[in-house]
Amino acid sequence: MAKNFHVTEDGFYGTFGGAFVPEILKPNIDALTACYVKVIESEAFQTEFRSLLRDYVGRPSPLYLSPSLSELCGCKIYLKREDLNHTGAHKINNAIGQILLARHMGKRRIIAETGAGQHGVATATVCALFGMECTIYMGAVDIERQRPNVEKMRLLGAKVIPATSGNQTLKDAVNEALRDWCSHPEETFYLLGSAVGPHPYPDLVARLQSIISEEVRQQLLEKEGTELPNYAIACVGGGSNAAGSFFHFLDEEKVKLVIAEASGHGVDTAETAATLTLGTEGVLHGSRSLVMQDEDGQVIEPYSISAGLDYPGVGPLHAELAQSGRASVITVTDDEALEAAYDLNRKEGILPAIESAHTLASLRKVKFQPTDIVVATLSGRGDKDIDTYLKHAVRFGYLSE
Ligand SMILES: *Cc1c(COP(=O)(O)O)cnc(C)c1O
Repeated sequence: MAKNFHVTEDGFYGTFGGAFVPEILKPNIDALTACYVKVIESEAFQTEFRSLLRDYVGRPSPLYLSPSLSELCGCKIYLKREDLNHTGAHKINNAIGQILLARHMGKRRIIAETGAGQHGVATATVCALFGMECTIYMGAVDIERQRPNVEKMRLLGAKVIPATSGNQTLKDAVNEALRDWCSHPEETFYLLGSAVGPHPYPDLVARLQSIISEEVRQQLLEKEGTELPNYAIACVGGGSNAAGSFFHFLDEEKVKLVIAEASGHGVDTAETAATLTLGTEGVLHGSRSLVMQDEDGQVIEPYSISAGLDYPGVGPLHAELAQSGRASVITVTDDEALEAAYDLNRKEGILPAIESAHTLASLRKVKFQPTDIVVATLSGRGDKDIDTYLKHAVRFGYLSE
């Protein structure tokens, strides 16, 4: 019998998952767990969620056949254009769903973590829309490298608090957000941005992002006469765009799942964020998954040029998909991602987010058949990464001094 990759009632994917939280947060987690499936599946929620996705976010996002990538790979490469969503990435799908849940639960104060700033902007945006108080935790290093997103959050009325511990990136922002939640559990809803954290967050986020693969099935049916691609490919930081891209294909064995993860300067260097390749079992941020850690269980500080992929953990679903062999994992270095981004921009006028550029680069490492239909999720747009792209453009020969 085919393996089941959907979450169990107690929050596990194989041995990964669970909810390892301090006692003080148990009531919040229990309340969320008790209601999330029922609320999400209710007609009232679905009507409001889908109407906002259509009229506010701009869904369905196009499924675009890329001429240059198709030629390069020798088969049909479709890009699922999450970069065209309002606020520029897939994060808004999840943010809208969770703020509807927060309102349902009577919470008025929203907190969130952010890496590249996309989840922070999405959260500040839905807080503006629903008139809620918004506090965003962001690593001090990320505040520097993703400045345009920080200014957007402030203009939206959010309070942006720098996380100054560790290497001052995403992991540290999550730590600060969890600390805040422990101090104000009663009035606060933690609007988590990826398929990580304690159960039910990984499943909640996967369900809200599953609109991506739901649309892909319908769009492929119209364009190709089949709902199933041969490959679904996405990058993984925590795993939300991949979870959404894979969700409606998990039980379809014909669809090969491919995860692109950031290896920074390389998996054999100390500057890397390739958790699925290098991680071992451990508990981080409330769930058991693969974690980059030393022999004493100390988290190893990750590194990637991409603030959205610079995380030493990974969602429990993705750990299970990788460990079971259901998904294959491809590592992509900073330079490989940069090259793929410059290339798509010059050939098709699409500047991808540096995270999504990892997905594009991974396409070059798969041996496709000429008849293959491939759907790669373009998780976001590159506006936030202009400084990074400018900084390296001369070295790659895309600009002269
Ligand atoms: C946040 C982000 C990611 C990584 O997060 P996931 O939860 O793994 O999807 C990837 N791409 C973009 C554009 C992002 O903003």
